[in-house]
Amino acid sequence: MNYEEIYGLESTYTSGGVGRRPVALVKAQGARLWDSEGNEYIDCAGAQGWANVGHSHPVVTKAIEQQLHTYVAGQESSYNDQRALWMRDLAEVLETSLNWDSSYIHPSNSGTEAIEAALKFARYNTGRPNIIAAMRGFHGRTMGSLSATWNKKYREPFEPLIPGINHVPYDNIEAMAEVIDDQTAAVLVEIVQGEGGVFPGSGEYFAALRELCTERGALLIVDEIQTGVGRTGRWLACEHHQLSPDIVSLGKSIGGGLPMGVTVWRGELGQFKSGLHGSTFGGNPLVCAASRAVIEVMAEEQLPQRAEMLGAWTRDAIESLSARRIREVRGMGLMIGVELRTKVTPVLQKLMERGVWALPAGLNVLRLLPPLVIEQSDLERVVEVIDDVLK
Ligand SMILES: *Cc1c(COP(=O)(O)O)cnc(C)c1O
Repeated sequence: MNYEEIYGLESTYTSGGVGRRPVALVKAQGARLWDSEGNEYIDCAGAQGWANVGHSHPVVTKAIEQQLHTYVAGQESSYNDQRALWMRDLAEVLETSLNWDSSYIHPSNSGTEAIEAALKFARYNTGRPNIIAAMRGFHGRTMGSLSATWNKKYREPFEPLIPGINHVPYDNIEAMAEVIDDQTAAVLVEIVQGEGGVFPGSGEYFAALRELCTERGALLIVDEIQTGVGRTGRWLACEHHQLSPDIVSLGKSIGGGLPMGVTVWRGELGQFKSGLHGSTFGGNPLVCAASRAVIEVMAEEQLPQRAEMLGAWTRDAIESLSARRIREVRGMGLMIGVELRTKVTPVLQKLMERGVWALPAGLNVLRLLPPLVIEQSDLERVVEVIDDVLK
């Protein structure tokens, strides 16, 4: 099919809720994308951050293929070998990463569901109603996580949302200290705010926040949906600050391209009472097999280390460009934000015309989230194109 045919059908039937560029992507491999007209792009969007191990990684593809012939969608109400092995492997990685003795794992199908489960568990566990989130935070688009998302543009048309959610300035411990009280079930934050503009929080902030939550009996939830799975140069971004939260939400890259969300919490908190929360497809054998392959590839190819190294190189390279339109370069690992003095949309369009597929983060931040398997030569090309486009 060509672009006109694809666009014709989609624009006829789409709900319209998602903004799209005038391109139909039809194929991907590693860190490369191809559109319906045969144009090739370097993927600096990592498919909105879900492609950390790259598109169609052979180890992940093989795991999916094998499981596809064995048992696909499973039964929520039975135990399963793939889920069992995946839980063991994931727990091992996360417990090391978070300095936990034990953990409980709740699988679902998307990032927003991983937040919903975190909010539900926090209320259930503490018996308290309220949640505190941060300004500029993004946590998803279903009613619960949307309530915790900051941007009014996403929230207002759907109000009333769930009550008891308060937003305070990010990376500001005084603001948190004023609002956390004996009615606070949990505080929900990102380690690097992604959608909000690629803003990393400081180590002092997270250390103080950890203490404050413990003191006042509130749970600390970290949204690692975008920062997790090696993106920032560690398996989880929490590791940069030796932060040991109570609950972590994962999504995007954890499923290796299949839809998956994961909510994990420290073992001391206990479990849900049986029957309280579930999902038909959550933790199905197919996605568990894929996710287990992702965990394997992360270790085999040392992708967190790779993200750290390539990320540092790329941020330095962009910082040393003389383009006057660049105000600031921020980020951690291969989660990079380039704040511009101008709007980002026309820049994205020009990058696309030059074969670089990047993302915005707000009105004036160019966001790069390439697959962690990307070659340095591809990143060199990306920096060159950014330089040309911003001149
Ligand atoms: C993408 C994202 C979400 C939502 O994930 P979905 O799978 O789109 O529901 C939540 N939090 C953060 C930080 C994200 O980047």
